Amino acid sequence: MAVEDSTLQVVVRVRPPTPRELDSQRRPVVQVVDERVLVFNPEEPDRGFPGLKWGSTHDGPKKKSKDLTFVFDRVFGEAASQQDVFQHTTHSILDSFLQGYNCSVFAYGATGAGKTYTMLGREEDPGIMYLTTVELYKRLEARQEEKHFEVLISYQEVYNEQIHDLLEPKGPLAIREDPDKGVVVQGLSFHQPASAEQLLEMLTRGNCNRTQHPTDANATSSRSHAIFQIFVKQQDQVPGLTQAVQVSKMSLIDLAGSERASSTHAKGERLREGANINRSLLALINVLNALADAKGRKTHVPYRDSKLTRLLKDSLGGNCRTVMIAAISPSSLAYEDTYNTLKYADRAK
Ligand code: ADP
Ligand code: MG
Repeated sequence: MAVEDSTLQVVVRVRPPTPRELDSQRRPVVQVVDERVLVFNPEEPDRGFPGLKWGSTHDGPKKKSKDLTFVFDRVFGEAASQQDVFQHTTHSILDSFLQGYNCSVFAYGATGAGKTYTMLGREEDPGIMYLTTVELYKRLEARQEEKHFEVLISYQEVYNEQIHDLLEPKGPLAIREDPDKGVVVQGLSFHQPASAEQLLEMLTRGNCNRTQHPTDANATSSRSHAIFQIFVKQQDQVPGLTQAVQVSKMSLIDLAGSERASSTHAKGERLREGANINRSLLALINVLNALADAKGRKTHVPYRDSKLTRLLKDSLGGNCRTVMIAAISPSSLAYEDTYNTLKYADRAK
């Protein structure tokens, strides 16, 4: 099956080693074999990461006896640019999106694995949220003669099982299911950035409004799921005729860290937070697994188990197009996290 025909694509992005990983002299635990194949825990990585030394004495977690080969729709190595990742993920579902299908793209992985870099990016090297919107504007402009378009964007977070507007921060917002509009977040603000620069400014501002709390595991760890949505409303331009309005929705999501709450030694408020984050992530994994198992048959999909899955109910499964980007570190410092992320990504296929 061609990648574009599949309703779920699963890709992996291996980020370059961080200065800390280089200093720690740990060994690499992933080897990118080609565009689709990755080996976890390779016997002899023939193309190592500079500075990550094979067979180092500070070897971290015990090496499992067998290496594991994974095949994904695409594997991006450390040299992959933001544009490469965009071109082979979201770009391939934009046609479907403009035909009226809801789409979702999410970055999954442990804290520090490269999720935010992939979805939001840096101001000088923006990620998928920005590249997608800019490409979309370009395509819509080219079709202005045939159709009337309206584009609206929103940016919200699910934190501690509560929904917050990231562009116009206020109290927690409620979800409602509307028979015509689908999933509606009550009171969420919608915006029409006039330029690419304005969009970038909005994304940056929204990200500053994300709830971030230091935990023992990582001082900059993000405990929130950030959901950027693009709504496109289109109507044929035929004089004298009232045409049906078609609305589709693209959800681009920077998920909270997938590391287990227990590894952060969280207590009190932080612990509840961790438990809830696991709830939304677990619910998402369960929904994806249920959809993968169903293969077109009628089956119970547990959308109602968390805020995140309720929000994405009309954007996962059915005719929707979904891309899961599993973000991983190349270093043995993140051995368990990388192993768990690859396992989840593999199971979602
Ligand atoms: P996460 O959001 O998963 O916690 P980040 O996206 O914040 O992780 O990435 C952790 C660190 O690694 C950041 O300093 C980020 O800039 C850097 N990083 C992540 N991916 C890449 C990449 N592909 N190229 C360069 N630096 C990266
Ligand atoms: Mg992040």
